[in-house]
Amino acid sequence: MFIIAFLCIGLGCTPEKKDGLRILTAGIRHESNSFMPYLTTAEDFTLLRGREATKGRAWANYLEEEGVEVIPTLHAISGPSGIVSRETYEAFRDEILEAFREAGHVDGVYLDMHGALQVEGYPDAQSDLVQRIREIVGMDVLVAASFDLHGNISPEFMGGLNIISSYRTAPHVDGEQTRLRTVKLLLDALKHNYSPRIAHLNIPILIPGEKGITSVEPVKSFYDRLPEIARMEGLMDASIFIGMPWTDVARAGMSVQVVAQDARYLQQAQEQAQALANDIWDQRKNLQFDVETGSMDEAIQVAMESQDSAVFITDSGDNVTAGAAGDGTLALERLLAHHVTDAILAGIFDPEAVEQCSKAGIGAQVQLDVGGKIDYVYSKPLSITGTVLSLPQGDPAGGKPDAVLQVEGVTLVLLSGHRAFTDPTHFQDIDMDPLTFNIVVVKEGYLFQGLRDIAPKAIMALTPGFANQTLENLDYILVRRPIYPLDPDMTWSASNL
Ligand SMILES: [Zn+2]
Repeated sequence: MFIIAFLCIGLGCTPEKKDGLRILTAGIRHESNSFMPYLTTAEDFTLLRGREATKGRAWANYLEEEGVEVIPTLHAISGPSGIVSRETYEAFRDEILEAFREAGHVDGVYLDMHGALQVEGYPDAQSDLVQRIREIVGMDVLVAASFDLHGNISPEFMGGLNIISSYRTAPHVDGEQTRLRTVKLLLDALKHNYSPRIAHLNIPILIPGEKGITSVEPVKSFYDRLPEIARMEGLMDASIFIGMPWTDVARAGMSVQVVAQDARYLQQAQEQAQALANDIWDQRKNLQFDVETGSMDEAIQVAMESQDSAVFITDSGDNVTAGAAGDGTLALERLLAHHVTDAILAGIFDPEAVEQCSKAGIGAQVQLDVGGKIDYVYSKPLSITGTVLSLPQGDPAGGKPDAVLQVEGVTLVLLSGHRAFTDPTHFQDIDMDPLTFNIVVVKEGYLFQGLRDIAPKAIMALTPGFANQTLENLDYILVRRPIYPLDPDMTWSASNL
């Protein structure tokens, strides 16, 4: 057996598959906006435990089909919002660690993360989590993790991992594909007895995701290079993180990673990471919006004059998908001020106002102070009078019903949950067709793929809020300096590190 194994290593043939591999899984998936004055707690998460966490998931099916024993622990998943409370994170972490202790011997660990987790009182909770996992499983067990490309990644965190892979599309259409790729890499490494190492580089560039769309140059070409790097001898995968600029932490910003099969190929991985980082740095001034932009007033004016129906306007400063409040009233106030005749605003997050509509009933006229309750910094409640059109069960996750009102020429969707309309199906859920309106306002930054596919025209309104696109206007305290574009004249080279 020893001789066969030795010959296989020497000849580079595929070693015999190991039987009985055990892989533990866990995850805390959250994108934390530190500017948002809202503390995210356990109630904001969907908590999946045991088989619930793996049921119907391509990555888990793949591992099981390969004969791996998958041992799921806690997978906590939430939409973007304010930073996570200390108590919530510690409860999640301790539950995961306890399950790891009880599991006994394992061969590998798979973590399903977002990458932009920020926890009250922790400089880098993701690093804390992986260090504590290492204390239990030791340094010889392979730990792999998948991420959204909007994660903020520190070298300390990377130091605890063997394998990393992030999404390669923004707007995201490859989440499941990335998770599947990550577990395939993990299993591949286990079967071949690799000891993967990660070459990691933070690039001092801070951009909103709207300047990092992967189908738009120059970002497209960078992402196109990743599979080519991954195919190089001795390398396993490569990632680019656009980062999350609305989390004020030292590690915020872009980064690149290249995974080497083992220490022998680490130098090559570092060279590839450096080349990629330098090329991205050289193109920093070309990282721009791919869509027409303007103030909310300008966007409404363009939409009113446009021949296209419908024109989609994104209220980007109040972008729910970047963790902002979603209850800003600027868009509603300006639509009414412009006396638009055929607009839909989807939506404003205001459970109290929904409750009032629900009590009044369909057809009733209501007077409400809507929005401006979470975002009391850039917004304030707006007094309106409207007619309740419907009380649809709109939340695909099965939350409380929403309310649809007619307020002059605006069809206003009031939401009982903190969510964004990112796909045509979300409009179907409230029995609305966005294409029948002249103006469609949604609270996101870039249009997500589903809406991008149907929108005849889109304008990004550069509005105030906790996801302000003009980063120079935000009061950063902890972001490392210098960083582009906050320090526009700085110089940098990955080769000089
Ligand atoms: Zn993302």
